[in-house]
Amino acid sequence: MEEKRITKENLIKLGSNWVNDGMNVYVNNGKKYTLMKLHEEDLKGFEEAPPLMSYKEIVFPKTEPILYYKKSQKEVEIIEPKIGGVKNIVIGAKPCDAKSISIMSKVFNWDYKDSFFNVRAEESVIIGMACKYNDEHCFCTSVGISPVSTDGSDLFLIPLANDNFGVRIISDKGKELISKYESYFTNGDSEESENVLSSIPIPEKKFNAENVKSWLDKNFESEFWNTTAEMCLGCSQCAFVCPVCHCFDIVDEDYSFTEGRRMKNWDACQNGLFTKHASGHNPRDKQPKRYRQRVSHKFKYYKDKFDEYLCTGCGRCSRGCPAGIDIGEIVERIDKLTN
Ligand code: SF4
Ligand code: SF4
Repeated sequence: MEEKRITKENLIKLGSNWVNDGMNVYVNNGKKYTLMKLHEEDLKGFEEAPPLMSYKEIVFPKTEPILYYKKSQKEVEIIEPKIGGVKNIVIGAKPCDAKSISIMSKVFNWDYKDSFFNVRAEESVIIGMACKYNDEHCFCTSVGISPVSTDGSDLFLIPLANDNFGVRIISDKGKELISKYESYFTNGDSEESENVLSSIPIPEKKFNAENVKSWLDKNFESEFWNTTAEMCLGCSQCAFVCPVCHCFDIVDEDYSFTEGRRMKNWDACQNGLFTKHASGHNPRDKQPKRYRQRVSHKFKYYKDKFDEYLCTGCGRCSRGCPAGIDIGEIVERIDKLTN
């Protein structure tokens, strides 16, 4: 694999160049993926927790118009919104975030190819970074990722001594991004990078995801859900911070009697109204049914349909849950039920 080396100073300069070129550059500053201003942002995150929010908004905004309409007495005119047109670059993506676009791509290209997602995904370049952070909420290794995995990255950074980074070129997109800027790089030393990577502890798996799936296959109705989900407040924080939760609602907003727009807004299966039918019937009328859906979607339904878990083990949903619910711990308990 081709490898280069860059100083942190040059990496920040490179980011500034991309900003100058009109791209949206997001930098992991240790707290969030922040939109870079010229020469201003620092790059951290190697030893920090995943930022509070993932960067899924780049490909799946919180809210966006999917069409505008104008009505006259005889006709309705549909106006398509403009999508994309700006390259998005993420510098310092955690491996548990870097994989998110490829995971969501499966559902956004299943029975319908969602150009809102696809155009932005095509225009995004992900510069991943090895991760040395691990706390009680992390479980990336249980879902097939690791702190050193390059899945989903176009370039991959390895923090070296003295504010240097090894840069591995993973995809053609990554190669193309830096092709104009060779002077910022020197030759890489893959042995030095390999030494850093092999010094990063790989956390033990917390659960066997296949066992979890086989339990979910047989336990749609189980007392487990009542006892597990009784504390859940239905606030949906867990879905909004999740790098791969992707449910949305469609709402028409009339500006007047003659024109308006159709909006796509983030929604979540923990919301009480999420599955409420126009008839008033709600098939998931109680919180345990909604929590069962959350766990089953991630560890059974998505795996059945796309051969992929809908979870990267980043632990965000658990770190921020106001009720202290920890999905990793719940799934670990399910695994133990199978032994
Ligand atoms: S963040 Fe916690 S309380 Fe809120 S919906 Fe998710 S599991 Fe329930
Ligand atoms: S379910 Fe929780 S741990 Fe899994 S990817 Fe989403 S936020 Fe991260």
